[in-house]
Amino acid sequence: MSGAPSPRPTSRPESELTTTGASPPEPQQVDATTLEDINRGNRPIRASLISAFVVPVLVIGQAAWATYVVCYKLAHQRLIMRDHQKGAGCAVIVLHALLMFAAGVAYMRLIQVIYTDPGLLPLGITRAKRGEGGNDDMKTVMKRWSEKRSVIHTTRPEDPHSREELFKELAAHNQHQADLRMEALKTFRPKEMFIVAPDCLPRWCKTCETFKPDRTHHCSDLGRCVRRMDHFCPWVGGIVSETTTKFFVQFLFYAMLFCVFMLATTIALFKRDNDRYGERNPWLIAMLVLSGVYTLFTVGMFQNSMWMLAKNFTTVEQRQFGMPLHLAVRISDWYTGDIDHLPCYAVVGFPSAPGEKWAVFETEPRARLWDLGSAYANICEVMGNSVWDWLLPFKYSPCVTHDDDISEYQFGPAALAVKNRVQA
Ligand SMILES: [Zn+2]
Repeated sequence: MSGAPSPRPTSRPESELTTTGASPPEPQQVDATTLEDINRGNRPIRASLISAFVVPVLVIGQAAWATYVVCYKLAHQRLIMRDHQKGAGCAVIVLHALLMFAAGVAYMRLIQVIYTDPGLLPLGITRAKRGEGGNDDMKTVMKRWSEKRSVIHTTRPEDPHSREELFKELAAHNQHQADLRMEALKTFRPKEMFIVAPDCLPRWCKTCETFKPDRTHHCSDLGRCVRRMDHFCPWVGGIVSETTTKFFVQFLFYAMLFCVFMLATTIALFKRDNDRYGERNPWLIAMLVLSGVYTLFTVGMFQNSMWMLAKNFTTVEQRQFGMPLHLAVRISDWYTGDIDHLPCYAVVGFPSAPGEKWAVFETEPRARLWDLGSAYANICEVMGNSVWDWLLPFKYSPCVTHDDDISEYQFGPAALAVKNRVQA
């Protein structure tokens, strides 16, 4: 993702980025998006143990306790046995079972996708070949550097030789990353419109050693780049991404209905017992507190998720909202004017697309490039195009297909307006 606004650079010499000749070789990426790959060393202990095991167990335990209280203590013991209201008692049990089943299925589907297809970007081939043993990324280098520096400061503060050695190591690492990036550029397949880094090259992840497509961000919890990354959610033990956002929202929806039902049932029974018997049962009070807290939590989460779906941006993009992006637009197939006078940031070409040119534009700081212009269209991009898609946790989101040559994700009016600067 781009940083602060930069001055307009001179156009990058075409010879530096572009080559002519045969068709480009296959992209240097290794498909490594399976659970085995995550477990091979890219998933830290804090994420895998706490989030993936303890939290789901806690959630399931609380749901089981709530079921015991609502179905046995309240519906069976109080409504059916004590008050002889069999119809009301059975209705509570059946509704509870239906809502819990819906929430449970949505949760299981979400967990299944999180552990089998969490939307990870394939590693670059050099990173994948090194595997676990060669984890010499920027974070590792900086950690080692930091450790050595602390030794220098405590024992030999004026040792210029050691300091020079460390700077050399850092410089060598940066140069190595730059070389990898230029090498990977030979197989990079640019879309018609895509976001580039401020240096006008495709965005590069130094940890995964690969180019990051639009809306892809590196997740430090997983140690991997994730497509349409939203956030790492400890409640579901995994990443909310392009493959899991739909199931995450569906789970929130059914969990919210479940919590609202439990709260409403508990309030009604509490009021009824209080009015009829002057009784304040401790089970009811405990249930009231638990369902009240979870109702507030799930309603808030669901409301926020739907708002973000309606605006078509992610938690990561929300945090970076206000920073301009650099949008590359292919112009070689339709623009016939003078390139030197284009109102753009730079004009670039790529070795894998000989003869093609892209104009790079700096977007408005608060532009929402993927907002399709209507809340309905934005929601459909993730939730699907029918009521059944919205409600049933089976099909993936329409946005997970990336076979479109125009862009990684469909751009909205704000991005097209940038393109129109050239046409105007
Ligand atoms: Zn990455």
